Amino acid sequence: MAACVRDLSTSLESTKSPNDRNSYRLIRLGNGIEALLVSNSDEQKQKSACACSIQVGSFSDPGHCQGLAHYCEHMIFLGSKRYPGEAQFEEFLSENGGESNAYTECEYTCLYFDVNRKALHHALKMFAELLHEPLFTQDASARELQAIESEFQKKRRSDHVRGETLFASFASPGHPWRSFGWGNLQSLDADPKAQGVDLHAELRHFFSRHYKACRMRLSVFGIESLDSLELAVVDAFSIIPPSDVEQLDFEAHGLPLCVKDLPRLVRVRPICDGHVLWLSWQLPSQLKHYKSKPESYLSSLIGDEGHGSILSYLKDMGWATDLCAGAGGDNFSHSSNSMIFTIEITLTVNGLGHWTEVVATVFQYLDMLRSYPDGDLPSYLYEEKKLMAECSFRFLQEKDPGDLVIDLSERMLPFYRHEADHLLTAPWIYSGFREDLVRSILNLLTVRGCFFMLMSSSHGRAGGLDAVNEDTPQEGEPCREDVAVGQGHVDRHFVELAGCEPKVEPYFGTEYWDSPLEETLLLSWESLHTAEKLHVPPPNPFIATDFSILQQVTAVEEFPQPKTGYASFPAVRRLLPSPELLRSHAAGLKLWHLPCADRFRQPRSQVSVKMHSPYYSLDAGNVQKGALLELYALCFNDSLNEMLYAAGKARLHCAVNSTSYGLTIKAGGFSQKLLRLVETTLCGRKLEKYKPDRFLAMHEALLRSYRNSWLKPQAHCSDLRKLLLMPSMPRPSGKEAQLNSCGSEQLMAFVQNFNTVMGCELLVSGNTPAEELMGWAGTVFDGYRLEPQTKLEVDVVQLPVGSATVWLQSAVDATQSNSAVEIYFQLPERDTWQWQEDRVRVRVLLALLEDVMYESLFDELRTKQQLGYSVGCSMRDTYGVPGFSIYILSAVQMPPILVERAMQFLQDFGQQMRQWQSNKFESHIVALAGRWLEPKRTLGEAHGACWSEISFGFPVFDRSEREVAILGSLKQEELLKLFELHLAPGGSGRACIVTAVVPSADELQLPALCESISKFRLAVSTV
Ligand SMILES: [Zn+2]
Repeated sequence: MAACVRDLSTSLESTKSPNDRNSYRLIRLGNGIEALLVSNSDEQKQKSACACSIQVGSFSDPGHCQGLAHYCEHMIFLGSKRYPGEAQFEEFLSENGGESNAYTECEYTCLYFDVNRKALHHALKMFAELLHEPLFTQDASARELQAIESEFQKKRRSDHVRGETLFASFASPGHPWRSFGWGNLQSLDADPKAQGVDLHAELRHFFSRHYKACRMRLSVFGIESLDSLELAVVDAFSIIPPSDVEQLDFEAHGLPLCVKDLPRLVRVRPICDGHVLWLSWQLPSQLKHYKSKPESYLSSLIGDEGHGSILSYLKDMGWATDLCAGAGGDNFSHSSNSMIFTIEITLTVNGLGHWTEVVATVFQYLDMLRSYPDGDLPSYLYEEKKLMAECSFRFLQEKDPGDLVIDLSERMLPFYRHEADHLLTAPWIYSGFREDLVRSILNLLTVRGCFFMLMSSSHGRAGGLDAVNEDTPQEGEPCREDVAVGQGHVDRHFVELAGCEPKVEPYFGTEYWDSPLEETLLLSWESLHTAEKLHVPPPNPFIATDFSILQQVTAVEEFPQPKTGYASFPAVRRLLPSPELLRSHAAGLKLWHLPCADRFRQPRSQVSVKMHSPYYSLDAGNVQKGALLELYALCFNDSLNEMLYAAGKARLHCAVNSTSYGLTIKAGGFSQKLLRLVETTLCGRKLEKYKPDRFLAMHEALLRSYRNSWLKPQAHCSDLRKLLLMPSMPRPSGKEAQLNSCGSEQLMAFVQNFNTVMGCELLVSGNTPAEELMGWAGTVFDGYRLEPQTKLEVDVVQLPVGSATVWLQSAVDATQSNSAVEIYFQLPERDTWQWQEDRVRVRVLLALLEDVMYESLFDELRTKQQLGYSVGCSMRDTYGVPGFSIYILSAVQMPPILVERAMQFLQDFGQQMRQWQSNKFESHIVALAGRWLEPKRTLGEAHGACWSEISFGFPVFDRSEREVAILGSLKQEELLKLFELHLAPGGSGRACIVTAVVPSADELQLPALCESISKFRLAVSTV
């Protein structure tokens, strides 16, 4: 115990939120590691967690080994000198209900795990050994390179990552921004080899140079005393020796982009269909201003969506659908080197034709802000932010232990410059309005300092995906004359560039054109008149003033203790009281109520409303109606956007979504004004004041989302399985075709029909009294024609036993190099609307199978065989039909090989399970029961659990507890039996679907592929 300094901050405990039931202690070990201990005494809780942030990241990659920090993060977990098994740590976590993960940022690397509380101390020891003496075996090093490559191949297809990397590639030579943090086989294997560099030696050198105790910041959450946590941490982490360390100073490099290169415009080819405009500025790092947060004030003004905002104007013009402003929360945007302030605008095709005017609107708004006389920038907007931050902190919601320790360990990193007393409060501190700091940022957001990026599918699409010709207005739409019809491209200025070969960013292969910005254009943006249409938002009417908490303690019933043969099986308690059905009358209104504000110490409520219309649901297979319903939900949200945005700033949220039965409205936040918000939302359901221009923009946005929906091979592959199981499910292309033929008249007719007769079901939980809810519902639903809901039945194909259906398709994205495959096994027992113990038992068995299989599958197919970055298994529930899937995304093997390997794995896994010691099986059962019995931490979690029961149609509010009881009665032989019957090769009850998506480049190999897959089919069907 003497080996550490305790209580580095003596007042930390006094700074925490009154709602926070944790205790904290900040210590420094003799070797320099600082650790923030978090203790919770709730005996019902199971989950413990630990995170370690190390202050070194991709900014420190050596030039000849780009991606080394990321690679090092991957290698850490693969065995230590003391615990040499490659998967030893993961196996230990998996048997004790936990898991680990890690990520690499520009200036730090974070590694973390969670685990059931009894295993915390041992897990800490294993974790510390990994950070002290990782093995870095030659064998694993070579294989893990493939994991880095697979991860890169996956990230490569993200337009956001491509845009960010392209932006960074313009940094001055030698600037840390230019480091290619992801790494791939080229940068970590081919390039070093070509220069005679030994990667393995570099890895060891990097580790011993940077993974130093004094760079480590640790946070540990446990259900035990602080003294006990301190002992465990000191005991585990004192093995890491103290040492001096070089200082990393990224500020000294200066700002990333050379000022003479600005302003700059690049036009980029995206992967997705769509048009996005970025305006970015490089600013000095703002990390030292974390107390006054000037950037946050500015981004909430520029990113405002209410009347008078940039977005509101752009939407009214039909030019844009979304706008985000500010510095991202990531380390790239907010580093010790610089802050990147970005305005990202999603344009419509019409907006693309007017992009220079869109930019003009942004600068008009910035000029409007600058035109306030000194000392006059509205401080009430800052005070509102401060008030809402204080309320959020006062009524802090409990976090998942894993998320909590990650946040805390990051916040402790020295480059963030947080004072020790602010470790618990930093994100919520608003120390006072600093107009001088706000202006210092605002004055840098100039035309001449801006980096413009226009990513548009009108420039063609990456890898030769077909660009949709959007020039011709669709029939039934008003003619958009101002779009440059007939020029071939709606981005008029692009025409001259179109004949030139694009440049190519070296790592991601992003194609772009450096485009000139004419002086006349720049001058026009600099000499704009202030526009009356643009103004700052008025005081926010949604801000709550009453935060009293309803004192209504709802009794929780006892739960009968299950019979179990497992000695350490946990006692089962009811997790939550059941909601009460306040009113259920023939007119089709069901009102559920769960008062539980005192339980979570929250003046907040949550509301879910299910709006079920027979006009829609009796004909739910109709593709056109399906597309119209989705369009309806989009327009519904859009019509309320200005109001909902203001509500959002007051920590109230409300959103409309389309579902299989109709619409749901989900709302939540401080309860005082919440029901009023839901009421106003419901009042707008007929879209009476909705503008046709906005309809066009939403119509276009939905068409794009259909076009982009199968770009990711995994989603594509999983949809193929659903299509085989539910042939009536519409394909994106079918919905696109239907939507294309619909204009605003069809939408309005649909909206009218949808709203004629309805069934409504509500759940209100939290801080709303029953009387208030009853009175409110009485008035709100007064004018509705309500009818009871009919059950939605979806036909799911029952696969014949012994069958294997194979569906292979080419990837939509021609250039991506991944194959996706999903192997799905169906089980025959379809669930009914009633609780039937034997059917639920199958489901619990499948959940247990997922738990016991996941780690072995990952270790074998990903870590050992390196088939791909995403490898996993999951139970499936298709409208009550149980199933189980294994899925793999691979850049190195084609589907037949992937299927073969998965089958071999199943064969071996069956053998392994047969040989398991009974205590291994027991530890999985007990750990899973602990996870399912973890108390709900937030009102949102409690509400969500009850709502999923209600929306399912047959609520069983103690489902988790009942399932735990079943879990306690399961035997190893029963799991084996299910596995051998339905999943194992040769199983006599096997019914299987294989869906696969292959890179289009491999289409030539298709005949060979089909042949080997039909062999597989034969093998499965002749059992
Ligand atoms: Zn990674």
